[in-house]
Order: sequence, then C-alpha cells, then structure tokens
Amino acid sequence: MGKIEGHTLLFVITPTYFALSFFHIILALSALVCMGPPFYLAYRDQKKTWCRSICPRADFLQKIGRISRRKSAPKWMVGNKARRAVLGYFCMNFLFVTMSTIAVATGRVEPIEKIRLLIVLELPWNLPQLISVHALPAWVSHLSYRFYSIILTSTLIGVGLALRYKPRTWCAVCPVSTMTGNMIRNLERTGRSSEINSRAS
Ligand code: SF4
Repeated sequence: MGKIEGHTLLFVITPTYFALSFFHIILALSALVCMGPPFYLAYRDQKKTWCRSICPRADFLQKIGRISRRKSAPKWMVGNKARRAVLGYFCMNFLFVTMSTIAVATGRVEPIEKIRLLIVLELPWNLPQLISVHALPAWVSHLSYRFYSIILTSTLIGVGLALRYKPRTWCAVCPVSTMTGNMIRNLERTGRSSEINSRAS
C-alpha cells in the first residue's frame, strides 16, 4: 500500500480519538463514524478510496514510520493466511462485543468497564474520566470500553509494525482492507461494477 495521497493532517484524528476518551468513554463510539465510509466508497468507486486517500490511521502510521526501520515484513506476517487470521480475530471480537453488550443490556452480566488488549489482557488502570454523565446505561458504557479496546489493540499492533517494518505494514492485514478488497472482487466477478459505472455516468 503506497503513501496516502494529498492530506497531511489526518493523522491528528488518531491521537485525538484516544485523548477524547479521557474526557468520557462514550466518545470512543465516535469510531463508528469510520466504519461505513470505506465500504460505501469501495462500492461506489470499485477501488479502495478510503485506504488510498482518507484513512486517518494510515496517515498516522506514515508519520510514525518516519522513525521506522523500514524493513520488509516476513511473508508469513502479511500473506493470505495472516490476512484471514486477522479478519477472523476481528469478526470474533465483534461477535463477543455484540453478545456481551446484549447480555449487559438485559441485566445478565455486569459491564466490563476496563480496557482489554486482545480481548482478554486487562490493563490494570482506569481511563481518567474528566466529564461525568449521569444515568448512562451500563450497556453504553460497556460498548464504549469494548470499542476503545478494539481500536487501541489494532493501533498498538499497527504502530509496533510501523516501527519495525515499513510504515503501513498493518494495512497488509487490516480487516477493512481485506473486506473492501473482497467486495471489489465480488463486484467485478458478478459484473456489478460495470452496472454501477454506467449508473454513475
Ligand atoms: S488498510 Fe486499514 S489502516 Fe490501512 S488505510 Fe485501509 S482502513 Fe486504514
């Protein structure tokens, strides 16, 4: 994946996201805003427009990559098997988040108001919460912490890879890239891409 085109200040969004959650964890749900556009743009353009020119994380990794060792990552780390494994992990994680949030909402389990890396590694400290919101449903708080945990985990992995290997090594296995790539291939295979093109022209 090449350099992100055009923008240079998008990287600010990533640290801002983590900083905002210090005010209130509910702000971690702002990550939802970034979930739809990669797929909509891939459908509309039949290319990874989000990855090429919009993704704040890619810009952030590029900035971090200025102090990278810039080695090529081993093939097993960025190949098809790794891509499938990372996608499987994230699907499992989202399933866990959905099921546990439903369980909290229906009063069957207590919310987990802690940050966890890789689903199970609980950090021994709490996020400072500078703003208090009264009467926040427990499931919202649980969902917010789970989202924050997912984004923090993938960002830390991405940063680790960027420092050791090429800046955007994470992008080789990123689930968004895998899913939009599959989507574009499916559109091409089923002939939908020419239909979308003719509708757009
Ligand atoms: S592959 Fe993932 S991290 Fe990289 S640009 Fe695309 S969405 Fe962003």
